[in-house]
Amino acid sequence: MRPARALCSAAMVTARIAVLGHGQVPVTEPVLRGDDLGVLHGDGLFETMHLRAGRPWLREAHLGRMRRAAQAVELALPPTGALVALLDEISDGWPIDVEGVLRLVCTRGAEGGGPPTTYATLAPVPPSAQAARRDGITVATLPLGVPARARAGLDWLPTGSKTTSYAVNNAARRWASRSGVTDALWISTDGYVLEGPTANVLWLAAGALRTVPATTGILPGTTAAWLLANADQVGLAAEERLATPAELHTADAIWFSSSVRGLVEVRALDGVRRPRSAYTKRLQALLGFPVPPDEQPG
Ligand code: PLP
Repeated sequence: MRPARALCSAAMVTARIAVLGHGQVPVTEPVLRGDDLGVLHGDGLFETMHLRAGRPWLREAHLGRMRRAAQAVELALPPTGALVALLDEISDGWPIDVEGVLRLVCTRGAEGGGPPTTYATLAPVPPSAQAARRDGITVATLPLGVPARARAGLDWLPTGSKTTSYAVNNAARRWASRSGVTDALWISTDGYVLEGPTANVLWLAAGALRTVPATTGILPGTTAAWLLANADQVGLAAEERLATPAELHTADAIWFSSSVRGLVEVRALDGVRRPRSAYTKRLQALLGFPVPPDEQPG
């Protein structure tokens, strides 16, 4: 894979699509059949990676999560070498100074049977993600309607799998938008915080960077796992544990983490404003994201 060296603005870079076995295709070219089960039932898997310096960050962790999910939903994923080649094809020549949103999608394929449909998309990171890193986000809690420990006991349920069935997640994000906040934080029926519809929640308490255990059925985030594994580099311990919203309110800092936004600070939870944490920039720098300039006034 050869990243392009010329300096380039994200606005000048156009989105790409590449299909397994075909390489890059024009973005206007259809790549799915109308009866693809990914479209009909949301029966497929995807991974969203952060393309930085022309390369997918944490590629192995994403491919590993996709392979575990494929086992859970009995989907015949193409060999890892073919997926890596597809990611290389779509990233080839992408300007190194333009952050990218790199998606890898694998659906169950046509309704009557057939091979999975596998393709990748690549687009510049939207300015809203960069603004969230700089300014933080506002979050409101939202009941999910399941107890925190219920899903782990259901061995038929593909918990922790990043399936293309995001109708519930999208509904939660629309609820957040209607409620005047940036994002939602799901709460279990027994009162524990779980995750956001597209992000994990992390918080700082008693000198430890904490997040929610995957045994709650949340998506085990690649970004949160990487941060916990490297927290000692900024002098923090790392812990997975359950917490209530009341405990989050007393935490020294709260963040949402995900591949494209990276780490964004929660500046208000359920309408309660929070002071800015000095650890936000330290953890963003540790993650290797461009550290944003100071918050916009107003
Ligand atoms: N939880 C959910 C439901 C998500 O959709 C995502 C990412 O899209 C995450 C957590 C964060 O995962 P990652 O850090 O691997 O992007």
